[in-house]
Amino acid sequence: MPKTNDRRRATQPPTRIGYGFDSHEFRSGIPLKIGGIALAHAKGLGGHSDGDVLLHAITDALLGAVAAPDIGALFPPSDPKWKGADSVVFLREALKRVREAGYGVANLDASLILAAPKIGPHAAAIRVRLAQLLEVHADCVGLKAKTPEGLNLENAAVAHVVVLLERIPTKTRRKG
Ligand code: MG
Repeated sequence: MPKTNDRRRATQPPTRIGYGFDSHEFRSGIPLKIGGIALAHAKGLGGHSDGDVLLHAITDALLGAVAAPDIGALFPPSDPKWKGADSVVFLREALKRVREAGYGVANLDASLILAAPKIGPHAAAIRVRLAQLLEVHADCVGLKAKTPEGLNLENAAVAHVVVLLERIPTKTRRKG
């Protein structure tokens, strides 16, 4: 008789898709972090944590893919514990839940919408950092940056992310 978890895994689809969205407002005099990378800019992204809009959207995409509670439910802004938190903590928890569900990241694609700073010169570094965090090759991390033409969003940064997960065969699955 299989254990409950084994039975559940046997019915799990081989792939799962996740989608995440986030937006933050620019504020003067705070550091800017996007995709786990510090960028030199006069303004940073406001928020209870470090305001890393891209890591938040990735975290929600991962959580959504395994039907886990979202980032706001797991790390409520009302909890002082998360004030100024490094958003890598959120992403790591989401990835842990993905692994516990029996999946790994196949690839990820992200779109950033912001007027400034230009992301192009930093895109390679952000992709490498994201690949490191997600434990995939940088070729499996897509990143596009667009300016908010006609959206009247000059003082905001927006991120959209889709992620594809694939089921890890039980035999090759890592422990812990
Ligand atoms: Mg956020």
